[in-house]
This record gives sequence, C-alpha cells and structure tokens, in this order.
Amino acid sequence: MSKPPLTLYLAAPRGFCAGVDRAIKIVEMALQKWGAPVYVRHEIVHNKFVVDALRDQGAVFVEELDDCPEDRPVIFSAHGVPKAVPAEAARREMVYVDATCPLVSKVHIEAERHHENGLQIVMIGHAGHPETIGTMGQLPDGEVLLVETEADVATLSVRDPARLAFVTQTTLSVDDTKGIVAALQARFPAIIGPHKEDICYATTNRQEAVKAMAGKIDAMLVVGAPNSSNSRRLVEVAAKNGCAYAQLVQRATDIDWRALEGIRAIGITAGASAPEVLVNEVIDALKARYDVTVEQVETATENVEFKVPRILRVPA
Ligand code: SF4
Repeated sequence: MSKPPLTLYLAAPRGFCAGVDRAIKIVEMALQKWGAPVYVRHEIVHNKFVVDALRDQGAVFVEELDDCPEDRPVIFSAHGVPKAVPAEAARREMVYVDATCPLVSKVHIEAERHHENGLQIVMIGHAGHPETIGTMGQLPDGEVLLVETEADVATLSVRDPARLAFVTQTTLSVDDTKGIVAALQARFPAIIGPHKEDICYATTNRQEAVKAMAGKIDAMLVVGAPNSSNSRRLVEVAAKNGCAYAQLVQRATDIDWRALEGIRAIGITAGASAPEVLVNEVIDALKARYDVTVEQVETATENVEFKVPRILRVPA
C-alpha cells in the first residue's frame, strides 16, 4: 500500500543551545577529571534522555546540596541556583562547578546591580521553575517580586513605585512577555528594564522559526520535556500562530497518531534541551508512515559558544 504524502517543515534553529551544550560538557569533563560519581544538583538540563545518558556515565542527580557527600564534586544545573547554594557548598568545603548558563548569570548580575542602586526588582517568570527560584534567590527575601501574568501586575504591591526595575526568565514567550512588560510600564512608568532583552537568543530564535511555519502546517510536534519551559512555549507559540494541533513529545513513542490523521503538512522543532537524535527518531517514525518531503525553515543561524569554567580546563 502506498504511503500518504506529507510535507515536513523542519525548524532551524532547533534543539540544543550554547548554554545546554556547555552544561552537558561540564558534567562530562567533571567525570573525566574526577571520575564517578560526580553529583549534579537538579537535572543538568531538562531532558530525561540527556540525564539518563549522563547517569550511565556516573553522574548522580539530586535535588538538594544536602543529598551530596562532602568528598565528591557537585555541579549546579544550567538553570542557575540561589546564592545560598554555592555559599553552603563553600562552607562545607566542597568542590563545586557552576553550570549556570552565562545568559542566566547575566540576569543575576542585572538584578544585583539594580538592588545595589536601591531598586526593588519585579521578575517576570514562572513560579517554581528552577531559573526563577535561582534568580529570586540572588537577593534577600522581598527584594524580588514575581509576576506571571498581566493580571498579576494589576495586584502587585511594591515598596516604592518610583524605584523599580524588572528582569525576566530567559525562556519565556516573547509575545506574552511584551504584554506583561507593557502592563508594568503602564502601571509603573518609572520602571527600568534590561539594556538588552533577558529572553535569550535561543528562545527567541526557536519561537521565530515556529511562527514562520505555523500558518502552513496542519500539526506541529515539539520535541522536548514536559518540564522544559522553552519547549512548552514552542507548543503555545505554534497554537497561537495558527497551527490547529501542537503536541510536545519526548520521543517518537509519544506521538499521538490518531490526532495526526489526515494531515498533509507537519512542522517539527525541538526545545533547547532536546538532542538531535530524538528529532531524527521522530522524523524516522513519520517516514515509516508517510511519504515525507522535508523542507527546512531557517529563520536564523546561530554560532554562539560558551567556554567551560576554568577549574575544568586545568588538569586535576
Ligand atoms: S535556553 Fe537560553 S538561557 Fe537557557 S541555557 Fe539555553 S542559551 Fe542559556
């Protein structure tokens, strides 16, 4: 029986960003330098496939520093950690490596600078996400107020409306964030924003590529993990920009084939923590059922690379 035709639009850029690449490299280099086990506080990046592969090499994933022995190195995840975490590691004289993405660290520095200038900070982010916890944890309690929606802005209670600044999580929806920023500026005209966007290049580029294809596809598959903020935003961006069906899949076995019945064109992208091997697995699954023609939708090229911390560049 002949297979039905399917045009597969493949987003570019998609998948790993420079921060994720660096964080994974940090764990691998730490394992080479110190041998197993190396402890990692929280999933190094939000992807089960990546975490399982590192676990197989000897990484031990824990949620809190208290779960790490003092005589083994510990790595902090790409999402960033509250200041109290490295301080506690130093107090316990542990060897630690901070894999916080430099673009998250940039937001931490921004928040600190505003605090030093006497401003209270409003953070636009998702409650409970490790990046939000890490950024809020750079300053004493009460100095960073969290808003998740435009409605939150209306009820926000601040110390002094004339002395405010805002920062954002790096992996938000670019369009939704514009609305929240506009609401903040309308209510607090003196509020100071970042010199340059806090939403990172990788988040922005992946959302742009999805927008460019959303109008011409019947369905979109986003390869990524349910706890990956930037992957979930890609599903929302596809739906908001005219794609009738968008699904987050961790790998090919998650595809809901019934929901794809009758489609003629599909889009594929991957969140910043999803490896290309899983994208290829999804494409192969589609090729097994459809006569696929692949078209690349390239809206940006990326050549960002971050160095690993110095401690890993010198021999043990
Ligand atoms: S998504 Fe952006 S902020 Fe997060 S690790 Fe990647 S480059 Fe860094």
